[in-house]
Amino acid sequence: MNETKTVSRREAIALLAGGTAAGFLAAETIAQAEEKQTPQAKFDYDVVIVGGGPAGLSAALVLGRSCRKVLVCDAGKSRNHTSAAVHAFFSRDGISPAELLKIGRDQLEPYAVEWHDGRVDEAEKVETGFKVTLGKDKVVVARKLVLATGVTDKLPDIPAIRDWWGIGVLHCPFCHGWEVRDEPWACIAPAERAVEWATLLSGWSKSITYLTNGGPRPTADQLKWLKDHRVAVREEKIAGLVGKEGKLTGVTFDGGQPLGVRAVFVLPEFVQRSDLPKKLGCKVLTEGRQAGTIETDEFGATSVPGLYVIGDASSAGIQSVSEAVLDGSMVGVAVQRALVKEDVERV
Ligand SMILES: Cc1cc2nc3c(=O)[nH]c(=O)nc-3n(C[C@H](O)[C@H](O)[C@H](O)COP(=O)(O)OP(=O)(O)OC[C@H]3O[C@@H](n4cnc5c(N)ncnc54)[C@H](O)[C@@H]3O)c2cc1C
Repeated sequence: MNETKTVSRREAIALLAGGTAAGFLAAETIAQAEEKQTPQAKFDYDVVIVGGGPAGLSAALVLGRSCRKVLVCDAGKSRNHTSAAVHAFFSRDGISPAELLKIGRDQLEPYAVEWHDGRVDEAEKVETGFKVTLGKDKVVVARKLVLATGVTDKLPDIPAIRDWWGIGVLHCPFCHGWEVRDEPWACIAPAERAVEWATLLSGWSKSITYLTNGGPRPTADQLKWLKDHRVAVREEKIAGLVGKEGKLTGVTFDGGQPLGVRAVFVLPEFVQRSDLPKKLGCKVLTEGRQAGTIETDEFGATSVPGLYVIGDASSAGIQSVSEAVLDGSMVGVAVQRALVKEDVERV
C-alpha cells in the first residue's frame, strides 16, 4: 500500500463541505491515487457492499444519498447479536441490536439500494471493477467493492462460554460496564495484560478477581500490583459458568470454592468473519492490538485498488458501533469521490 496519506478524514470532509470542485477533484485518497482506471464496461451496480451490519448500512446510506446504485449483501447476525442492548451509541443508548439494524435498513428505502439476503463467498477483481457471485451462480459486476464483513471472537477455553457471550461474559466495559457497575466482576486476559485490564475495569467495579484459568501466572511484580490494588487472583482451571434467570451469578473451578460474580470480562482474539478480504489479496495484520484485522487507510482503502474494508474487519479504528458507522460514512465519501473523479475524467 502507498504509505503517503494525501488527504485526512477531516480534510476530505472540509473539502466536500466547502463545495470547491477544484479542491475536491485535486485531492486524492490513497485508493484514488492508486486507481487511475476509467471504466467503460457495463456495471450492474456502482458499489456492492458485503455485510449489512452498522458499517455496511452506514456506507449504503451515504452512497445511496450520493445517487449511486448499491447492492448490500448480508448473511445476518451482526457481531453483537447475542446482546440485549447496544450501549454508548449516541441517541440510541439501550436499543436492541436487531432494532438498530432494522431502522438502518428501513431508512435506505428511498434510495437505489438493493438487498441480497445471503452469504457471499466468491468475488473477483476484474479489469474495471469486481465480479461478485450471489448464491450458487448469479454474478453481478460492480465498480467498487466494500467489505463490511466484521469479525468473530475467539473466546477463552471455558465450557459453554458462548451461551453467556454478550450476556454475562463481556468484552467492553464502555459498552456494558454501567449495567453491572459496583458488582463483583472477574476478568480474564493473557498474563502480560492482567494489570492493564484490571486497571481499566476498576473504573466500574472495586471488586475484581483476575482468573488465570490454569494458564501462565503474571510475574511477581504484576501479582504484587494486583494485590496492592485489591485485585484477587484465582489460578485454578475454570470448570464452568453459572447463572439464574438469564443473569450470570458465578464461576466454578476444578477444585476450590465457586466465585460469585455478575460479569466476566474477557479480551477475545479477532478472527475475520469472511475470507473474502484475504482471497482478494488484502493484508491481515498478525501483531499488536490490531491483530486479525485488515490493513487499510483511514477511509477503508486497501492495497487492492477499488476494494475497501470497513468496520470491525478493518484496522482503521476501535471496534464499536459508533466507529463502524463512522467508517461507513468515510468510505461513502471516499467511494463517491473516486467514482465522480473517474466519471469527469472520462468525459
Ligand atoms: C457481545 C458484544 C456486544 C457488543 N456491544 C456493543 C455495544 O453495546 N456498543 C457498541 O458500540 N459496540 C458493541 N459491540 C461491538 C459492535 O458489535 C461492533 O463494533 C459492530 O457490530 C461492528 O459493526 P460491523 O458492521 O463492522 O460488523 P458486524 O456488526 O459484525 O456486521 C457484519 C455483517 O457482515 C455479514 N457478513 C459477514 N461475512 C459475510 C459474507 N461473506 N457475506 C455476506 N454477509 C457477511 C454478517 O452476517 C454481519 O451481518 C459489541 C460486540 C460484541 C461482541
